[in-house]
Amino acid sequence: MVSDKSIQIRRGLAAVRDHSRQFADFTFVYPVISRRSRGLSLGINLNPDKVCNFDCIYCEVDRTVPGKVSKVDLNQMHDELIAMIRFVRDGGLAKEPKFDELPEFITRNIKDIAFSGDGEPTTIQNFAECAQTVAEVKALERLDRTKIVLITDAAGLDRPEVKRGLEIIDAHNGEVWGKLDAGTESFFKEVNRTSVSFDRILNNLRDTARTRAIVIQSLFLKLRDRVMPREELEVYCQRLADIVGGGGKIKEVHAYTIARPTSEEFATGLGAGELESIAETIRTRTGLKVLSFD
Ligand code: SF4
Repeated sequence: MVSDKSIQIRRGLAAVRDHSRQFADFTFVYPVISRRSRGLSLGINLNPDKVCNFDCIYCEVDRTVPGKVSKVDLNQMHDELIAMIRFVRDGGLAKEPKFDELPEFITRNIKDIAFSGDGEPTTIQNFAECAQTVAEVKALERLDRTKIVLITDAAGLDRPEVKRGLEIIDAHNGEVWGKLDAGTESFFKEVNRTSVSFDRILNNLRDTARTRAIVIQSLFLKLRDRVMPREELEVYCQRLADIVGGGGKIKEVHAYTIARPTSEEFATGLGAGELESIAETIRTRTGLKVLSFD
């Protein structure tokens, strides 16, 4: 088991339940307490315009309201990140509502800086430049142990611009968290609702994992009160095995479920026992390390 005590962050805490990507007057940078990051994560919102090439049935982003900003201002993102890091270090965040419910060893320790936000980070045209900016700030602020994480639906991992960005991230304690929610093309289309082909996602995950060990993040849910069918889960496990069989390295699998309200009422979260049962099946079938976050 993971010994890091910050993983014991309880789901019920307000700072864990609230993953708002808006903090004070910041536009691109926001703090969240993330159980999957095992502590404090500084999010970088590269998609304040809410652009995404998926339309997941469990997405929490409200796209009925347009985004406030359509373009990432790199200088502003740079300045906001420095300001947020110093705010955390000086203990300012620890005094903020919701964050003040947590011990300071959590709210003063930046586990990662994560490209995430209101859409898919790899859709941005100058991804490498964004990665370089974050890497420079991380070095300047001497956050040697802090990771840079790319949280992605994997659709853009084959873009040359993104590959350049990944090389920068790799050189600065980077990690890729790639989404895989399905085993078959039809289930993938039902859950992730995209025109991107499932083959492209699978190939991108495998190819990215050939160069560095990746984390697979998989959301399991109930569709109209039904958990993922057994056959679908078996094919999903085979997809993971195919990534490994194709020369890819999977560091761990994060199995999680819906924790906050979504736009589709027919998509609901699993109970802790249901999720753990799926996680155990994945462990048994693949031999991979699987962490479940109910
Ligand atoms: S990939 Fe992420 S941002 Fe895009 S629709 Fe799915 S959950 Fe929402």
